[in-house]
Amino acid sequence: MDTNPAARLMEERIAQVRLRMAEAAKAAGRDPAEVLLCAVSKTQTSDTVLLSAGMNVDCFGENHMQELVAHHSDGAYQGKPAHFIGHLQTNKVKKVVGIASLIQSVDSLRLLDAIEKEAGKQELRQDILLELNLAGEESKTGAGLEELWPMAEHALSLPHIRLRGLMGIPPAGSTSDENRRYFASLRGLFEKLCEEYPNEKFDILSMGMSASFEEAILEGATVVRVGTAIYGPRDYGNKA
Ligand SMILES: *Cc1c(COP(=O)(O)O)cnc(C)c1O
Repeated sequence: MDTNPAARLMEERIAQVRLRMAEAAKAAGRDPAEVLLCAVSKTQTSDTVLLSAGMNVDCFGENHMQELVAHHSDGAYQGKPAHFIGHLQTNKVKKVVGIASLIQSVDSLRLLDAIEKEAGKQELRQDILLELNLAGEESKTGAGLEELWPMAEHALSLPHIRLRGLMGIPPAGSTSDENRRYFASLRGLFEKLCEEYPNEKFDILSMGMSASFEEAILEGATVVRVGTAIYGPRDYGNKA
């Protein structure tokens, strides 16, 4: 164990999160190994990210292109995968494709086309999730439910994109029951997606954050995105 107190605290927080994840998985009759812990490293310094990369997290989540690029070029992820989870503007796609192993937050046909074009240029196949906004709040990112089927159809037609599944963020301030219902409806859509395209292999359902990852695991999440419960409260003054 690390003797640096900040490192010890982080290690303890991660151990706590892992324990709670394992208990939720067991309660749902699932194998805890099915659920990946994505450490949401937005606003953290590269040193902090580097420290956490040596600990028990599976991947990283960033919601700003600049931070993704900075942490990546500093080697802070230590080779672990980094996911893009924030609202992605088409003019930033160039920088994100090729660094992010998974873009979780694809929410428009236009964005799909921009990613396809860039991935083609870089001669790679970009893994993505479609982000849905089931709550229909104006201020939030994510596509409306009616956009799911056209986006899925389009994503599956693009040769440099591999659609892996769905992502969702419940409305802020929801109760535990509300979160659980939200996650259940997202899981229902994920199951429909699998039924609609039986020849595809969709394997990622990303839902649940610090305040809701247990409910998300109970409802079938395969990735939880946890920031505060690992790094403590965010200091937006640090933002790259
Ligand atoms: C910030 C963020 C998280 C993590 O939130 P915490 O409450 O700190 O765990 C998860 N998902 C997305 C999309 C985020 O932007």
